[in-house]
Parts: sequence; structure tokens; C-alpha cells
Amino acid sequence: MWYTPMHVLVDSIYASQADHEVLDENRFSSCVGRKKARFTEDSKKRKRYGGGAHGSQSPWDGGHEESISLPKPMVGFGLPGDRPRSVSRLLPAHSMRAPFFYYENVALATKGAWAEISRCLYGIEPEFVDSKYFCAALRKRGYIHNLPTEGRSVLRPIPPKTIFEAFPQYETWWPSWDQRRQFNCLQTCMASAKLTERIHRALANSSDPPTQAVQKYVLEECRKWNLVWIGKNKVAALDSLEMEFLLGYPRDHTRGASKKKKDKCLGNSFQVDTVAFHLSVLKDRFPCGMNVLSLFSGIGGAEVALHKLGIRMKTVVSVEICDASRNILRTWWDQTQEGTLIEFRDVQSLTHEKIASLIRQLGGFDLVIGGSPCNNLAGSNRHHRVGLEGDQSVLFRDYVRILNSVKSIMANVG
Ligand code: SAH
Repeated sequence: MWYTPMHVLVDSIYASQADHEVLDENRFSSCVGRKKARFTEDSKKRKRYGGGAHGSQSPWDGGHEESISLPKPMVGFGLPGDRPRSVSRLLPAHSMRAPFFYYENVALATKGAWAEISRCLYGIEPEFVDSKYFCAALRKRGYIHNLPTEGRSVLRPIPPKTIFEAFPQYETWWPSWDQRRQFNCLQTCMASAKLTERIHRALANSSDPPTQAVQKYVLEECRKWNLVWIGKNKVAALDSLEMEFLLGYPRDHTRGASKKKKDKCLGNSFQVDTVAFHLSVLKDRFPCGMNVLSLFSGIGGAEVALHKLGIRMKTVVSVEICDASRNILRTWWDQTQEGTLIEFRDVQSLTHEKIASLIRQLGGFDLVIGGSPCNNLAGSNRHHRVGLEGDQSVLFRDYVRILNSVKSIMANVG
């Protein structure tokens, strides 16, 4: 059996405890009392940088602000190379039964969302991680999983963590008053040519260096849209190859999709190095390979991470509704994998009976992985941000339903 039969797992974690703040709902935290002090500063930052959403500028609105307090720094249960420290991680015994599972969503969700997701996933505390510690772009995500956290390893080569290390060519035209050294969260929409042209005109019509007001305007747009300097007074959006690189995908991973679809799929995807760090503990546990149930697969962030870790995928059952995303995953799979890829479109159509039949066919799943849509939790359109029960975000319940089905079927079979 793969799991450690214990009620309390004492993990080595590396976060700075002084800075570690957790969600509301006391059950997660002994340091809830401290959260108020930081919240104003944090929420201001969120407003400014909008660092969390799959494709949003500011996932917050006033009504939701007091609800959540995130760890700061957002380093999860430890970063590569940190000095281990012992902190208890409470995992109820029944959550430890096979299969392993890994659930992802945006960290900066609406009120109570993480508390509810956690409640549905055995009360396990989310691991909040900002991918800025793994690559040159911010990406604040929460992960709920039952994976061991000791003995994690990083993917090599280690990606560059600053803009200039990633793209040295942009240093030539980067003005000294633009102090950005990392990108904000890569989003599902990119800046229009109209906007970059407007910025160009504003700079061309200003002094050298530009006035404070023009600098402020330009910097705000640059931060918001992750613009880079490609010439004198000229900025541009990142292209898809650059996004793929920052997010840890192979070059041309999204080739074949339209520019708009590429942006959308990449904006929604896992940052591969971050997820691989968490999944790395599986490598020694599955020397003969694994069967994976990949829900909301998107462009295959989980699959790419497992592949880069050198973990063989015997079978992946992938569920993804977007045709363009499925095409991308299928193309990559055919190019790189020898195992079997079984595809479904809609998580809602994956019934208990279908799951039972898949388990009979495959002998069980070793990992259930996925990040359900965040559209109603984060996003620039505040009318869509209705919370966890919104038509998209509520699909997290299908993740929970399917995981519970898998667990109960496997418990009976095993
Ligand atoms: N982790 C993925 C992306 C997750 S984003 C990656 O690395 O790329 C959420 C995904 O859920 C999107 O790709 C979206 O198309 C998909 N989705 C939305 N509704 C769905 C449904 N009903 N069934 C299956 N997938 C769905």
C-alpha cells in the first residue's frame, strides 16, 4: 500500500512561520489573529497587481476582501533549497487512501471559496504557492492534495526567475524607471495593438525621461498587461512562445491553435515547474508508471509535468471540454508518449458507472489531478464573479464527486 497509515503527518516545511498566514475559519490556523493587520496592505497590492486570476486584473471586490488572508510569502510547504522545518500537516486517515489526488484553483478566490473547497476535500489545508519562486512570472494558486511533501525535487534546468534572464533582448530598450523584474500573472487576454500604440504616442509626446504622470500611466499598463520593451518608446505583449516558456511548456506546445485560443489556454494552465515540484514525490513510488485521471486537463499541464519528471504514464483518462485544448494535449501526447490517452469531453458526463468501468479496465487510478474553472472566482468581469456556485466554478463539485467515486470503487475493489 502506498500510503502511510497515520492520522497526523508531520511534514518538513520550509515557510517562514513569522510570515505564514492562513485562511479564515479558525480550523486552518493558529495565527488568524494576525491576519487583520496585513489585510489592508495585501488587498491594496492585489488591486494594483491583480496577481492571482486566471486571466483577471483584480479578482477582488470590496465585499470579498475581509474573507481571506493568504500566506505571505506564498511559498507553500516549502521551496526548493530551503532549510527544512517541522510543521504538522493534518491529513485525516481516509484522505490518505489511494489514489493520490491534487486539486488546483486560484489563490485569490472569493469569500469562503477555499474554506468550502477544503471542507469538501477532507478538510485538508490548501498549499498556497506563487510561481514567482519557480519562474519569471507570478501565479498565485492554491493546491489541495494528499501527496507527501518530504523529498520533493525540482525540474532541471531551473528556469530563469527574472525578465532579463528569461529574455535578455528586452534589456536594451527597458527604461530605468520601469523597475519590473518579474511578470505579473500571465492572463487569458493580451493587450491590443491599439493599447500599445496609445502608449507609444504618449511616450513620444512626452519629455525624455517622460513626466511622472506619463510614467505612471505606462507602468500601470505594463504591469497590467505584462508588456515588454521592444524599441524606443515601444512596448509589446508577450507572444505565445514566450508564454509557453514562462509556464514551463515545450516550445510550440500550443501550435495549431488560433492566437486567441492559445492565449486563453495558456492563461488558464498550470505553471509546470511549480506543479512538478509537488508531483516529484511520485517518481520513486511508481517506478513502473501510473494511471492518471486528469480532470479539466486543459493543455495538459499535469501530463507535461509528469513527463518532465520522467514518470511514465501508462494510461491517462483526460476530461476536457474545449476542443482546442484537447487537440493540443492529443498532439503532444502522440509526439511524446507511448501510453494510452482516453478522452472525455465533459466532467458532468463521467458517471459513477463509467468510472467503475474505467477502473475495471485499468485496474485503478494512481492519481486524480485537475484544476477546475476559476471564472466565477476571479476575472476582470465582476458580473461573472459570483462565487463558488457560479456556473463554471461549481464544477469543482464534479472534481469532488469523481474523486469520491474513484475512492469508493477502489476501496471496494482493493
Ligand atoms: N490545468 C489545466 C487548465 C485548467 S483550466 C492546464 O494545465 O492547462 C480549467 C479547464 O476546465 C479549462 O480548460 C476548461 O476548458 C475546462 N472545462 C470547463 N468546463 C468543463 C467541463 N464541464 N468538463 C471538462 N472540462 C471543462
